[in-house]
Amino acid sequence: MSDCLFCRIVSGEIPAKVVHRDDEIVAFRDIAPQAPVHVLIVPVRHVASVHKAQEADAGLLGRLLLAAKRIAEREGLGRGYRLVVNDGADAGQAVLHLHVHLLGGRPLGWPPG
Ligand code: 5GP
Ligand code: ZN
Repeated sequence: MSDCLFCRIVSGEIPAKVVHRDDEIVAFRDIAPQAPVHVLIVPVRHVASVHKAQEADAGLLGRLLLAAKRIAEREGLGRGYRLVVNDGADAGQAVLHLHVHLLGGRPLGWPPG
């Protein structure tokens, strides 16, 4: 999807601070970090959202979370971290390419806004 921002980051067309890349998943630092560690974990293949995901995407969805866990370990987030997926307008999903936010490095308030 050439008009999708995260597809363009995945392809390398738009630069990003990539912290993980494999055949299926790319993770890069958020351009406007909301915590000392703020990484976005995205599938290489364009999937718009959890809501648009299919049963066939189950493995991929699970591997996104496991990738987040490994990155959290590498980033030293032993005290804890938060994984967030905004889905749709009310949740404020701004980029229509599925992404898991990994946030950590400070105490995180609850409930979120
Ligand atoms: P959403 O609101 O869709 O859940 O999250 C989108 C995230 O993408 C935001 O946290 C925003 O800061 C981040 N973002 C938007 N544009 C860029 C960009 O060009 N590069 C990077 N690395 N992050 C971006
Ligand atoms: Zn995309």
